Amino acid sequence: IKEKEKVGNLIRSVKDFPEKGVIFRDITTALKDKKGLEIVIKDFTDRYKDKEIDYVVGADARGFIFGAAIAYNIGAGFVPARKPGKLPAEVESVEYSLEYGKNSIEIHKDAFKKGSKILIVDDLLATGGTAKAMVQLVEKLEAKVYELAFMIELTDLKGRELLEGYDVYSQLKY
Ligand code: 5GP
Repeated sequence: IKEKEKVGNLIRSVKDFPEKGVIFRDITTALKDKKGLEIVIKDFTDRYKDKEIDYVVGADARGFIFGAAIAYNIGAGFVPARKPGKLPAEVESVEYSLEYGKNSIEIHKDAFKKGSKILIVDDLLATGGTAKAMVQLVEKLEAKVYELAFMIELTDLKGRELLEGYDVYSQLKY
């Protein structure tokens, strides 16, 4: 708990980014700190080691930072879920709504076998739109979501409600 407080103090809050009225939680200031990085990755590793997770799926782009490190530590594979047009082979795609407009996210169709046990990772849970799309991608491949893991959860935006029925873990709540 003390350790997580330390990480919380390393996160920088930037006003009016990417637009007016938004407070952006900047994790780069926590991750460049070697102790900060260690605390964050160790906490995820302790939680997910020995859970027989087959693959960690990281969301483009900040989910990659955590995803690969966790996967390596727990002996799982790493699979990226990417913004459209980035993956070279055949993809599954899910569209989701943003405040203004739409976005989509893709995964390689052959990323994992049916029934694989999957951990979904991203830096931050806000409305849950991105995370929900990740869940849908995993389920399109007929794999099972073990849990969704985030460094930060913005509780006011109720992402957890959108993810009802799934286990959600966050290290820090704002
Ligand atoms: P959601 O789909 O839950 O509304 O938004 C979450 C996505 O937006 C995540 O992929 C996350 O990287 C990004 N995001 C939204 N707000 C912030 C923020 O304040 N800080 C960071 N680091 N990422 C954010």
